[in-house]
Amino acid sequence: MTKIAVVTDLHANREAVEAVFAHARAQGATEWAFLGDFVGYGADPAWVVDQVREMVDAGAVAVCGNHDEAAVIGSTPQMRPEARMVIDWTRAQLDPGQLDFLAALPFQVQRDDVLYVHANAFAPSQWEYVQGRADAVRSIHATSCHYTFCGHVHEPRLYHLGATGKAGDFSPTPEVAIPLPGYRQWLVIPGSAGQPRDGNPAACYAMFEPDAQRITYHRVPYDHESAAAKIRAAGLPERLAARLAEGV
Ligand code: ZN
Repeated sequence: MTKIAVVTDLHANREAVEAVFAHARAQGATEWAFLGDFVGYGADPAWVVDQVREMVDAGAVAVCGNHDEAAVIGSTPQMRPEARMVIDWTRAQLDPGQLDFLAALPFQVQRDDVLYVHANAFAPSQWEYVQGRADAVRSIHATSCHYTFCGHVHEPRLYHLGATGKAGDFSPTPEVAIPLPGYRQWLVIPGSAGQPRDGNPAACYAMFEPDAQRITYHRVPYDHESAAAKIRAAGLPERLAARLAEGV
């Protein structure tokens, strides 16, 4: 039976990504989908890109995030100094092959009845956040797929829209399988693997079982102190290290 591990906002956090990969493999993942933001914030952009590139070569889905696009394009003078510094540092860590991989990522991928996109389905390259039910409905209306997976907001969330136009949303409880019946449309936000922001430092991802029509959100504790130590050692902004311990 198909089990799709959906991982987003990895943000160059090797320790978190290793923990998520190990957890998903132990859960029996048969497919992988990555919703972008492979780089930015963390200290291991090259390692994360290499891992994902290898998995894409083996059939995984991957789409482009705003941080991936920024690493490809480079910083601009209009950016805040901190953002500019992180982008320049990240770009300098990546070789031409890694940058080419990021540059070639599509903004969205549809497979069967599932749409994968970084920010939303209504304007995938504009990076608007899905911040509530109205945004989620707008995204769901932009696709005929019953299942949309997106990242970008770094907090796990689940939205649905019924055939009668009735919408709902909730914060999913981790480790509990949630039925996603096909008579509704669903927008699934697994939460960030590399920089969770809901007050829990454990890495997020979700496991989708399309045949059983259900999803399980997972939280995976990882060695965030090592990840933070590497951010400090690289000379990246202290705030990016400190927030990993808080999950904010
Ligand atoms: Zn992100």
